[in-house]
Amino acid sequence: MKNCAVVGAGMAGLTAAAELKRAGVDVVVLEKSRGLGGRLATRRFDSGSADHGAQYVTARDAGFQALMQETVFAGHATGWAPAGKTGDDPKNEPRNEPWLVGLEGMSGLVRPLSEGLQVIREIRVERIGSTSEGYSLQTDQGPQGPFDAVLVAIPAPQAAPLLEAHGKPFGDIAAAGMQPTLTGMFAFEARVPLEADYLASPHGDIATAVRNSSKAGRGGAECWVVHASHFWSRRNLELEREEIAGRILEFLRTLAGGTLPDVTWQSGHRWRHAAVETAVGTPCLVASNRRLAACGDWCLGPRVEAAYLSGIAAARALLEPS
Ligand SMILES: Cc1cc2nc3c(=O)[nH]c(=O)nc-3n(C[C@H](O)[C@H](O)[C@H](O)COP(=O)(O)OP(=O)(O)OC[C@H]3O[C@@H](n4cnc5c(N)ncnc54)[C@H](O)[C@@H]3O)c2cc1C
Repeated sequence: MKNCAVVGAGMAGLTAAAELKRAGVDVVVLEKSRGLGGRLATRRFDSGSADHGAQYVTARDAGFQALMQETVFAGHATGWAPAGKTGDDPKNEPRNEPWLVGLEGMSGLVRPLSEGLQVIREIRVERIGSTSEGYSLQTDQGPQGPFDAVLVAIPAPQAAPLLEAHGKPFGDIAAAGMQPTLTGMFAFEARVPLEADYLASPHGDIATAVRNSSKAGRGGAECWVVHASHFWSRRNLELEREEIAGRILEFLRTLAGGTLPDVTWQSGHRWRHAAVETAVGTPCLVASNRRLAACGDWCLGPRVEAAYLSGIAAARALLEPS
């Protein structure tokens, strides 16, 4: 394998791309949005920023621990110990591991991976074609390729249509279930009257409410990020952004006892494929020719570390001799 295209610049895709590049493969990453990191995402406003996707990461695998340590040493991540944490967090309990966040936003966590990689941004891959010269990609910016290998590192519901024509084992993608999350982000003129910086399931319709400004490097403004429950998000999935923010603000007001300081900025976000509900249960999916593969958190579970492990597994599978 001389060259490889990686579709998607989240933790899974960038991990795989960095691993392939280290092995001497000529890699190009194609990403539909402007930024890198995928669901490791941060929205900026005048006096601060709000992490509207993943809130923090924990590291259990030795390889992921080493990557996170390197990221901290490089100044792109730091610890976060929210005050008065309440509620059960299925991603962490009962382990009480250190929590890490990216600097200055969550995409800091992929910075060491993306350094030196060739990434084409704002390009959406729409079809993968197979020719005698390898794989060619149809994108909204025209064709790309040919490539000896292609790795698809995007959420399962988006990967399925790209891979369905390529037969086994990609039918297994259908086994992955993903749930939506609607998110509200708010900056306030003064401190919100809640002691805790992190509340898990504090209200029937809220999954987490986080004082985002308690993380390092997020600016001076009091800022909260509130993820609605999957149940509420599914029922209200098609709300407009402003309405998402408006409705979730009322949940936060209830949580704060009925009164909030004046809001200086607010925004809403719809994650159609936020969290893995059912993982495929295998680290990655690879075609029998070892030239086409798929990876992502949906292979292993609803955590950033699962995306990393899946990316590593996919890169190694492509590097094995066919
Ligand atoms: C609201 C929310 C809260 C979360 N909280 C946590 C948490 O606290 N801790 C934790 O560990 N995990 C959390 N997660 C989960 C975590 O964010 C994910 O598990 C992880 O980031 C997934 O990485 P990935 O690389 O598999 O996918 P993604 O991050 O989704 O990356 C996929 C990339 O592919 C791109 N893409 C998609 N389709 C195409 C296409 N056709 N062409 C080109 N590019 C494309 C996307 O733009 C994206 O950049 C949360 C997620 C959400 C949404």
